[in-house]
Amino acid sequence: MRALRLPGWKSEPEVVEVPEPTPGPGQVVVKIGGAGACHSDLHLMHDFEAGAVPWNPPFTLGHENAGWVHALGAGVNGLEVGQPVAVYGPWGCGTCARCRVGVDPYCENPAGAPVPSGGGGLGLDGGMAEYELVPDARHVVPLPEGLDPVEAAPLTDAGLTPYHAIRRSWHKLPPDSTAVVIGVGGLGHVGVQILKATTAARVIAVDTRADALKLAEEYGADLTLRSGDRTAEEIRKATPGGRGADVVLDFVGADATMALGAAAARTVGDLTIVGIGGGTLPVSFFSVPYELSIQTTYWGSRPELIEVLDLGARGLIRPKITTFGLDDAVDAYRQLQDGSLEGRAVIVP
Ligand SMILES: [Zn+2]
Ligand SMILES: [Zn+2]
Repeated sequence: MRALRLPGWKSEPEVVEVPEPTPGPGQVVVKIGGAGACHSDLHLMHDFEAGAVPWNPPFTLGHENAGWVHALGAGVNGLEVGQPVAVYGPWGCGTCARCRVGVDPYCENPAGAPVPSGGGGLGLDGGMAEYELVPDARHVVPLPEGLDPVEAAPLTDAGLTPYHAIRRSWHKLPPDSTAVVIGVGGLGHVGVQILKATTAARVIAVDTRADALKLAEEYGADLTLRSGDRTAEEIRKATPGGRGADVVLDFVGADATMALGAAAARTVGDLTIVGIGGGTLPVSFFSVPYELSIQTTYWGSRPELIEVLDLGARGLIRPKITTFGLDDAVDAYRQLQDGSLEGRAVIVP
């Protein structure tokens, strides 16, 4: 079968012929219907080197995948060949306290996982191929009625990651609150929709690109701001009494966006850094609002994926998708790199 492989660190991926996988006991092979192209893949191609993560290329890219059950290994029950499914992307050990409640991204026994702190497309072969081997049937989640694999694929990361970040702050998002989304890209544009679908907060979207802000507006953002020197002030002015934003979600994670988040946030608010832009934020007693909680989040849990798929099937969240064939995947990443891609690119092999 054909697959888009990352041959090494600091290299471009290439379409090559690889053997079709067969499932061992407890495993499932999924015929891929869609594989999302994620901004983090660009970091895999261009920024990482040996030692940055506990695994190395070569492997097939694609960590947000959906398709149909193709083959079941011995002992797998509850799934049928041909059934439409999403693949839960982070693959933990399966037995630690975190994995037992479906929080594989924070697996506490990474040495016991199929690959430490990774998954398909992140150390092991992912979904930018005709078939993907899923090492444990628990990662295969049936799609609800009304959702096809191309629509479902981005929900497994571009949907699940903002969903987790927002869900953990729900208690800080009552109807008189304000949520700020910084960076309306693949994750951020779904983040706006998740905020609108699951809270009654005012939603402010911030980006440097006019097209991205238009997209945020289409998806229901109450206010969109082109980022500049006065953005924090503009955000404060748009909140009741100028008190600042209750929750800031930074989908970029650069020095400037983190500084903006801290400057725009309210006391006892949340500043959640989701983007892996590699920035830092100096924190001192007087530099951030009192009791501002600052955290990073990584991906989401398996129960949360079921909730996200439900939102998708009911049309409450709908990622903007551009599809590409496997041979055009490199071009999709190029568009992602130069910022000309709106929403999410999904590779249909
Ligand atoms: Zn991703
Ligand atoms: Zn674990």
